[in-house]
Amino acid sequence: MRTIGITGISGAGKTTISEQICKLKNAKHINADKIAKDLTKSGSGYYKEVVEKFGDRILKENKEINRKKLADLIFSDKAEKGKLDKITYKHIVPKIEEEISNAEGYDTVVIDAPLLFEAGLNKICDVTIGVVAEKETCIKRVMGRDKINENAATDRINSQKNQTFFKINCDYCIYNEIGSDIETQIKEILEGKNLSNKNVIHVYNNGVEYLQFRKLLEYEDKVKHCYTLKPLDFGKFQIRKDEVLEQYKRVCQFLNINEKNIYKPLQCHTDVVKSVNYEEPGIHKENFKNIDGFVTSKKDKVLALTFADCNCLYFYDPVKNAIGNVHAGWRGTHKEIARESVKVLKEEYGCNPKDLICIMAPSIRKCCFEVDEDVKEMFESKFKYTGRIDEIIQKSDVHGKYYIDTQLINRIILEEEGMLPENIIESEICTKCNSNKLHSYRSEGELVGRNTSVICLI
Ligand SMILES: [Zn+2]
Repeated sequence: MRTIGITGISGAGKTTISEQICKLKNAKHINADKIAKDLTKSGSGYYKEVVEKFGDRILKENKEINRKKLADLIFSDKAEKGKLDKITYKHIVPKIEEEISNAEGYDTVVIDAPLLFEAGLNKICDVTIGVVAEKETCIKRVMGRDKINENAATDRINSQKNQTFFKINCDYCIYNEIGSDIETQIKEILEGKNLSNKNVIHVYNNGVEYLQFRKLLEYEDKVKHCYTLKPLDFGKFQIRKDEVLEQYKRVCQFLNINEKNIYKPLQCHTDVVKSVNYEEPGIHKENFKNIDGFVTSKKDKVLALTFADCNCLYFYDPVKNAIGNVHAGWRGTHKEIARESVKVLKEEYGCNPKDLICIMAPSIRKCCFEVDEDVKEMFESKFKYTGRIDEIIQKSDVHGKYYIDTQLINRIILEEEGMLPENIIESEICTKCNSNKLHSYRSEGELVGRNTSVICLI
């Protein structure tokens, strides 16, 4: 039996999602809010503890707990909320465990709990799904559902976790905005098509899909980022200019950054990394030719590059507040653009490599990056010195063909430059293996589209 934990703040729509999963699977729905409601019946152990802690002021005339009064009290005072939560966990967790043990005959159990993580229930789940929606949407839903005014609803939402918490901590997220296709999102999670993993969260935002990296989300108040998925396509800018600009606009709107400030170089497999502190923005501008990486320490500059199999390296220094966005295809990797990136960040912004974070977005990986003898020899002669050539190059079953691990080469270079191994984070997603969601040159050939990576300081 599989246990799925569904969580999210009030008004995000946990119950809707839970009910949908139950429709698709032979699943038992355990609703923590409903259990909590049952627990408040007068005379129960929970009732006694709550009344002892909060006094008669939370009781109705008939001595039942006035849930609205209790909610008003706890949602306007964090300390009071903490006290109630503690009592709730103590009583609710054994109840939920009992419900799970009574779920014979089902192949899935769905635990629908707002405080899944706080109560430690995530530990008994096989997967966790965070249901997220914009704050304004949640406020409106709570006002309608609980018949409370906007101020009370806003207080209630503000006292809970923000969207980023769920993106960082849940295995998956479902975006439940008005008009969101939640059925597709649920099905893709259940069918293993959602690309989220321990380092990456797959976001569906009103028809637009992108990846975000959990490590960078920890700094979401300083830096915004995403890596787009299909059907978005940022390729062939000269031919499809308006269409591409419209897509940049949509992505920037979701991230709440300015699409007028895009810096997009004309990538050319060089090892050139340029700072754009005082440059005017633009896409493929004349003076952005033959550049494969941009860095900046200035806010509101949207660094955007495009990819189809090549490595994308995002850099962020939380101490100096500098960012970078770098294109490292196999040629760029061989030319050591990763080393050049760290050098430029050090020279331009005084970054200490020990503070730097590097995120490697999806790219073609060793499983699929097959090359001929000549390319293999280029890598062998250049990187033999590392003593790890047996890990970097692997013989293919096909005669004269080899697989190259370009992610490992970039990692080795970054560590040589002084970066900490734990600050170099890979998406572990291969573009060719996942070409249903990602543009992949090796999979699609000359007509391939492009994924874009976006990063911006705010
Ligand atoms: Zn692959």
